[in-house]
Amino acid sequence: MKMIERTLVLLKPDGVKRGLTGRILSRFEDAGFKFVGMKMVWVDDSLGRKHYADVAQRRGEKVFQNLMKFMATGPVLAICLEGVNTVENVRKIAGGTEPKTALPGTIRGDFAHVSFIHADKEDKAIENLIHASGSAEEARQEIALWFKPEELHSYKTVHEVHVF
Ligand code: ADP
Repeated sequence: MKMIERTLVLLKPDGVKRGLTGRILSRFEDAGFKFVGMKMVWVDDSLGRKHYADVAQRRGEKVFQNLMKFMATGPVLAICLEGVNTVENVRKIAGGTEPKTALPGTIRGDFAHVSFIHADKEDKAIENLIHASGSAEEARQEIALWFKPEELHSYKTVHEVHVF
């Protein structure tokens, strides 16, 4: 298995609008990950449907529709991150899908608290700040969906020079 890998992170509209961009990006910088791509995008229906193609099947049509509405309420920050076992590590830093049960110390556990039941009663998507690719294959597809090759950059961080 390849250790150095890339993943896609989206800072969702709630994170951008709540002014948490810097604090959330710091968590990835503090852990030594490299930003290889970053841009703001206002998600349209076509991109939203491609990105979350499997959600209707896994979570139901209602959740999918609410998620599409939520993702279009403001711009997202799309980030391509690189490092060691990045997919798994970044999911760990992001925390579980439901903020109520996401562990303290994770982004979703520290900056939100709502439950699935609450979101479903309110007929809203869970606003959990961040998306992170679920597997290496998903990461490859998502990075290709969000970034052109020339938007991804190669350079050496101090972590690569001194730590890896
Ligand atoms: P994850 O983002 O943790 O990989 P999923 O891919 O299953 O989770 O779901 C995509 C997004 O849909 C979640 O991050 C969350 O914003 C929203 N979501 C998932 N399940 C629910 C639910 N039951 N009620 C409201 N929103 C949900």
